[in-house]
Amino acid sequence: MTANPKMVERQNLDKETVKQINKLHDFDLEIREAMDSICDFNDAIRDLAVQWNLNQFALQILWGFACDARRHEDFTLPKCSCPYFDNMELLGTDMRYVNGDCIIHGFKQKVFSA
Ligand SMILES: [Zn+2]
Repeated sequence: MTANPKMVERQNLDKETVKQINKLHDFDLEIREAMDSICDFNDAIRDLAVQWNLNQFALQILWGFACDARRHEDFTLPKCSCPYFDNMELLGTDMRYVNGDCIIHGFKQKVFSA
């Protein structure tokens, strides 16, 4: 995957930064593939989701944006069963729709509803 050229221009990024961004985009895909290929090892899938989130922070830094987990589209990760469209609407806010049965996010609901 390559960085969006319009965004690169708008953010005024140098070649080295774009190279690093492309590497992290590839890493994003590798994490997603690993999540896809794991069957029922919930802990491993959650660990990969943590890695994916850290990678998103690194990408936000390289792009020159603030580190902001509220902008992470983690509901698009393989094995996530949280609602896509509802969460797209909430992107950038503190709120998320969580499917209690989601392998990745379901435990959060238990934590917050206690
Ligand atoms: Zn989920």
